[in-house]
Amino acid sequence: MCSPKYNDDWLACPSCDQLYDLSEMQHGEKAYCSHCNAALTTSRTDIFSRVQAFSLSSIILMIMSCSFPFLAFKASGLESVMTLPQAVQRLHDEGMTDLALLVGCFILLIPAVLLVLSFAVSLSLGCGWRNHWAKDCAKIIFHLKTWSMVEVFFIGVLVSYVKIVHMATVVIGISFWAYAIFTITFTMTISNLDRYQTWKRLEELER
Ligand SMILES: [Zn+2]
Repeated sequence: MCSPKYNDDWLACPSCDQLYDLSEMQHGEKAYCSHCNAALTTSRTDIFSRVQAFSLSSIILMIMSCSFPFLAFKASGLESVMTLPQAVQRLHDEGMTDLALLVGCFILLIPAVLLVLSFAVSLSLGCGWRNHWAKDCAKIIFHLKTWSMVEVFFIGVLVSYVKIVHMATVVIGISFWAYAIFTITFTMTISNLDRYQTWKRLEELER
């Protein structure tokens, strides 16, 4: 896959390199490649304020998700309550260190890095600040965004819940609901941070 090229209002399709002039796009319009149907960009005038709002909400929800019980299990007179970080720790304690590392990275560390950088970059670009770090942070965001598995993890939790609810009493904690809403706000953060508009704004501020 070729790298997208950015030059004022021109954009090359990231899949087939066909060039498009996007200068006539209006707020809310979406652009697709006429050759390969790849999504090019969604034009939004309020992109950076949207990303600020969604990323800040996601950071608060993520802190809540890690601070309160996620699920509690009761079976045969025994009760076990786990927070999200404790679930990762439990995998490590059971000898599954590789899995604990992967889960910790994909559902906690990478999303946390993405959110902090997304908030910083969107605040910087929205306010028109010329920061030398914004471009490097944007590169990290667009590189890391495909490595976040927040939605996959939550779907996995729902499937597991359905399977074990017949074997034990499962109590859903505050953290579970916080993570459910976090999954939505996190997805909105990443989907709203449009690559073309981010790069266009970065280049405008560099002139
Ligand atoms: Zn294309």
